[in-house]
Amino acid sequence: MIPTPQEMSAAAPELGLDVAQVKSLSSQIDVAKFPAVYAACTVAQLVLGQVQVDTVPLNQTVVDGNWSEACVASPSCIVQPRSAKDVALALKIIKLFQVKFAVRSGGHSPNPGWSSIDSRGILIDMSKLNGISVSRNGPSSVVSVVLDGQCVFVIGGCIPDVGVGGLILGGGYFHISPNFGLAANVNNFEVVTADRQFINANAKQNSDLFWALKGGRPNFGIITRFNLNTVLDAFGEWQKNGASDPKSNIALVIGLDAITVGLIYAEPPAPPAIFEHDYRAFSSRIDTELTKKMYSFWVEKALAVRESTGAVQTFVLQHIGPALVQYGAQRGGNPLGIPSIPQQWWTTLIDWQDAADDDIVRSVSIETTKRWASLAADSGCQIPFLYINDASRDQNPLNSYGPANLAKLRKVAAKYDPEQMFQKLQNGGFLLSKA
Ligand SMILES: Cc1cc2nc3c(=O)[nH]c(=O)nc-3n(C[C@H](O)[C@H](O)[C@H](O)COP(=O)(O)OP(=O)(O)OC[C@H]3O[C@@H](n4cnc5c(N)ncnc54)[C@H](O)[C@@H]3O)c2cc1C
Repeated sequence: MIPTPQEMSAAAPELGLDVAQVKSLSSQIDVAKFPAVYAACTVAQLVLGQVQVDTVPLNQTVVDGNWSEACVASPSCIVQPRSAKDVALALKIIKLFQVKFAVRSGGHSPNPGWSSIDSRGILIDMSKLNGISVSRNGPSSVVSVVLDGQCVFVIGGCIPDVGVGGLILGGGYFHISPNFGLAANVNNFEVVTADRQFINANAKQNSDLFWALKGGRPNFGIITRFNLNTVLDAFGEWQKNGASDPKSNIALVIGLDAITVGLIYAEPPAPPAIFEHDYRAFSSRIDTELTKKMYSFWVEKALAVRESTGAVQTFVLQHIGPALVQYGAQRGGNPLGIPSIPQQWWTTLIDWQDAADDDIVRSVSIETTKRWASLAADSGCQIPFLYINDASRDQNPLNSYGPANLAKLRKVAAKYDPEQMFQKLQNGGFLLSKA
């Protein structure tokens, strides 16, 4: 939708445009010739400047910022905000022109369209909002473990290049999560909502949104700052208690500006040249016999698909205990609905090279989790919960949080985004409108 000159004039003060600029813009935008997204990009560039808005021909390095080749797409323009105010302006323009958009933080989701969009829309790339200080963390920073000149660290992801935004909004599992909880147990989220308000969500302010953001993903607004809890003394605890496996170790690298802690088990093999990725979530109770059966099924399928396509299939088992759930509850709760029992989260990850093999490769993962579900059900070990950070595009993790939590998430989304901009204009993600 291209706004009329009158609508443009009405929006101008909020966009920081003067009358002459609006007149000149309105005369440039030929409704018959230009799609709304093109016009929206032109306005975005005028309002936010060329440094922050990349239009065609796009900087290919920024376009390629998604981890999986299957997600790489060329939007009409890429907005790289430097502040929450810039995010608000971008949302204002998107809403004014009613164009599609996607938000990308680390770009690590392998689900096409979640953090990417083609020429029909605008990509908001959060990579320049990457400031870190002891009390703040930008949405794009990598927080595998970050220390900021002080001997503290925070819960992040298990590999260093996963982005803060997607990780935390989905939960965020780290090796020490069974004892120290998920990354989503933050103190505060700074959010830009659909109506461009800057709000804080924490235990005291907007506590319903605070709860919803800890697993509810991109349904409520764009997060521009995360205030993370630091985990004091964790390194000391590890030193005291140690690890029983001599192959594991912790590397502590101390610099003047940052201190990094690396958790090391073994030297991984050099990764093959891989282009396409997909992951898939599953959860079960702990049962060694079941694990063996699930492994047997997985290995047969993994071998066959490697033989036919060269695809590399792995799976990860993440241990979850009641302490993780209790930790979350003490920190203001979350919508995840994780049962308070010992359990494991299974993630299949599959990497392959040829896009022509997409269907056959993905069908193996789908078949694997389907079989795992029936094996788990047979032994009374199935758990409905699906970890959103590891869920594939055809799974429905929000639904697995349970009807009460889902209903509450919808209520929060309706309150903070009454016109449902994030449902209607956002390109993808696990949207509540589709759960
Ligand atoms: C190899 C690998 C290892 C992984 N390891 C872990 C792990 O150890 N622990 C774990 O918990 N997960 C892990 N994951 C899963 C990972 O957390 C998710 O893929 C997560 O979505 C990645 O975050 P991102 O910011 O890089 O993603 P993006 O692809 O940038 O974003 C994912 C979603 O979040 C939305 N989003 C991002 N930033 C914002 C924001 N600021 N405001 C609003 N919406 C936003 C996007 O629109 C998109 O819908 C791993 C994934 C892979 C592939």
